[in-house]
Amino acid sequence: MNSEQKLQAIRGMNDILPADIAYWQHLENTTRTLFAEYGFQEIRVPIVEHTSLFKRSIGEMTDIVEKEMYTFDDRSGDSLTLRPEATAGLVRAMISNGLLHNQRQKVWTSGPMFRHERPQKGRYRQFHQIDVEAFGFAGPDLDAELILMTARLWQRLGLKRLVLNINSLGTPEARQNYREILRNYFKAHIDQLDEDSLRRLEGNPLRILDTKNPAMATLVAQAPVLTDYLDAESATHFKTLCHHLDAVGVPYVVNPRLVRGLDYYSRTVFEWVTTELGAQDAVCSGGRYDGLVAQLGGEPTPAMGWALGEERIINLMQAQGVTVVPNQAEVYVVLVGEQAEAQGLALVERLRNELTACRIETNCGGGSFKSQLKRADKSGARYAVIVGESEAAQQMAAIKDLRSESEQQVVTWAMLGATLGQRLTAK
Ligand code: ATP
Ligand code: MG
Repeated sequence: MNSEQKLQAIRGMNDILPADIAYWQHLENTTRTLFAEYGFQEIRVPIVEHTSLFKRSIGEMTDIVEKEMYTFDDRSGDSLTLRPEATAGLVRAMISNGLLHNQRQKVWTSGPMFRHERPQKGRYRQFHQIDVEAFGFAGPDLDAELILMTARLWQRLGLKRLVLNINSLGTPEARQNYREILRNYFKAHIDQLDEDSLRRLEGNPLRILDTKNPAMATLVAQAPVLTDYLDAESATHFKTLCHHLDAVGVPYVVNPRLVRGLDYYSRTVFEWVTTELGAQDAVCSGGRYDGLVAQLGGEPTPAMGWALGEERIINLMQAQGVTVVPNQAEVYVVLVGEQAEAQGLALVERLRNELTACRIETNCGGGSFKSQLKRADKSGARYAVIVGESEAAQQMAAIKDLRSESEQQVVTWAMLGATLGQRLTAK
């Protein structure tokens, strides 16, 4: 970079600033608690994997692999890729750590994902997902529980009006049959296919259904639907899933057009959508991928997972007026004069010992009484603890309620912690 160039972040990659962080932390704390309640353990895996892992799992003919991956050769000449999604890396980790031998695993992870897409609101090149996966469960009860967990999450976050779309993609064998039918349909309308679709026609015509090209919307809408070609076992699996959702009272829409953008899914797929974020309407999506573990060299293991987009969830929280109280200071300690400054830090450390978890900000760097009080007010704290020249000389402090006009209370340093503790819990 030339030194005259303006310093800026990479397009589509955002700084998340302190002003917004309360939403992020609230979302992440809420999911962490929820996942523990459902028996899921956290797992953390690298952001970079071998490129071949993503090609083999996500599928060569998907948008992600064809045009969205950040791929580079490292200094040893290995082709590496910044993860565009979490599932592939998690499956790799399960296999390479031997976690699937006769074991069932329920795990979650979170962090940045990378896709070279056209940046716009709700669509970024570095974005963040919270991701949940369950390994070793073949039945539809697991599918239902994974979805119920998302429904409970929206409730905890105070999100409203999200719509759940579900569908079954059947087994790979049943899909093979449908693929032929679909190919014939698109071949009969070959003059209406765009460039991407022409390329996918032979290799994977199902991908054409996932097109975002509005010019092809009618053609896709009139295509034969997979649901009509489901195998019997998948049909039963799907019916049982629906029963479970009905029993809990979680509404859903069966959407036979829902195919999802990755190749590895089988049977259940789902997506939560909103009409309140414009074109970027999917906030959370997932599905079953019973064949992927074996396909990547592990013991055959049924699996299912989902991921939510943190940016989109937070945008929606803000659009729906969900407020999150930021972690502001509760107490601000004003220290005026040499003696107060000299003894102030020790005083505050003693306070911290007494008031566990209390958010106390100490005025560092001096300043006049007036300017320190201004900072105290700006910090959001409820109380200022004021130690000036005369207070310091007598080992006293004044407690000032910054949010009401009440009288200051003057107490000894020995009584400061107990008094503040009482006033903070009483408010
Ligand atoms: P879309 O149809 O919007 O491209 P997708 O089907 O590609 O989404 P998934 O791969 O299923 O998305 O990822 C799960 C979630 O991650 C999405 O539901 C969405 O909330 C979020 N997400 C996906 N791509 C992006 C992106 N580029 N920027 C921000 N969030 C994203
Ligand atoms: Mg996408």
